Amino acid sequence: MEPTNKSCWKCKTEKQISDFARSGKDSVCKTCRYELNAEWAKNNREKLRPKRAEYMRQYRARKEAEATAKAVAAPPPVEPPKDPEVK
Ligand SMILES: [Zn+2]
Repeated sequence: MEPTNKSCWKCKTEKQISDFARSGKDSVCKTCRYELNAEWAKNNREKLRPKRAEYMRQYRARKEAEATAKAVAAPPPVEPPKDPEVK
């Protein structure tokens, strides 16, 4: 016979299998899973921030490179250089 209750690893409360995530296979109840996820997101937001800054830096560099490439492709009109053969 399948057990209908199990203890949550985090809050140590015995709950119904249906109160556990992943069809009852999770070791923490849905409430604790939600808290753990929120905590994880909070902690990782700090860790992810430098990565995001790095991504933004690369994004801006790419945009600048594109703008430079466009400027090179269509250079502004300039005076033609003086012919060096003419003395
Ligand atoms: Zn719990």
